Amino acid sequence: MAIQYEQMMFSFGLDQPQNVQKGEPIELLPLHEYDVVVVHISAGKDSMGSFFQLIKNGVDLSKVELWHQAVDGHGEEHQEFWDWPCTEPYIEAVGKKFGVPVYYQWRRGGLYGELMRENSYTGDVFYKEGEQTICLPTTKGTLSTRRKFPAQSADLRIRWCSSYKVDSAKRTLGNNPRMSGTLEHRKKILWVTGERRAEGGNRANYLEKELHGSTSRRRLVHHWRPVIDMKQADIFALFREFKIMPHPAYYLGFGRVSCMGCIFSTAHQWAAYQYIAPERVARFAEVEKEIDHTIDVKLSILEKVAIGSVSKVLPIGDPLLPRWVSLALSRSFSVDDLVMEDFIMPAGAFRGCEGGSP
Ligand code: SF4
Repeated sequence: MAIQYEQMMFSFGLDQPQNVQKGEPIELLPLHEYDVVVVHISAGKDSMGSFFQLIKNGVDLSKVELWHQAVDGHGEEHQEFWDWPCTEPYIEAVGKKFGVPVYYQWRRGGLYGELMRENSYTGDVFYKEGEQTICLPTTKGTLSTRRKFPAQSADLRIRWCSSYKVDSAKRTLGNNPRMSGTLEHRKKILWVTGERRAEGGNRANYLEKELHGSTSRRRLVHHWRPVIDMKQADIFALFREFKIMPHPAYYLGFGRVSCMGCIFSTAHQWAAYQYIAPERVARFAEVEKEIDHTIDVKLSILEKVAIGSVSKVLPIGDPLLPRWVSLALSRSFSVDDLVMEDFIMPAGAFRGCEGGSP
């Protein structure tokens, strides 16, 4: 249900009806009227597709910034557990190629820190502004213990990984002075995310354009989902058009890319992880034992690996497979790696939503 807009009495100063409520459909401003365009980029195809759509709509790239919520923390705080090693370097390469800055937000200790949390508060939020790292301390809540994997559920209250990730961006938006204007001149922000209805679940009900909950008297935030009704094939066509290589995990046969070892990974996908990165699977298995809780309600990670079939995911016969594996597991990814003059359609482009969140 829409939340009543806190300040119904002041004018938007724009062509919006004054009774627009948060979570209600809106018309966007002409793109050039926004002061900042924040594109949320996971490195997955839909967030990249949103970025391409903005460019095709003539966005001024000098106003665009790519925001990435780092699931394993960032900088000195980084500890590899849940993310594909190449994801951050891939995003950096996208930023360099298109001349747009990349900004990171994360929680102390990343998803792993939250998973292992014991008798403490949930981790502080951090964000990067230039060379500076700013901490937004956790001030609410109670001391508690997590030590449970996120539930494999559409309910974000128990599938805590997704909300934990997204909240770091929302808190940054609400607290970063750069994202606020004045009472006379509100900062106009376009907040762009890459959900698609075809991926199912709650996305079917998402609006394409709505007033974002962080709108205030000093900040107008319009939320746009530019690929909401696009098909998977249309998204990969954009990569071909822009001559950009999709995230390497698509070339390993994954149809959805976000965390490596997503809680929704199928047995075949766990078998594929075991094939390309056995040490990562071993780490998950150790943690399952340590906290006495498995990701899957029925099977342990190692039991899933045992019943999975590598060839149901990895394109075993692809002569370029060693290159895709090496790119996916590398912490460096150059602009040369990113640009694909002769586009190769990834094996994952022919897979559905298997192994992704509902
Ligand atoms: S990709 Fe999977 S594990 Fe990562 S935040 Fe989303 S649902 Fe959780």
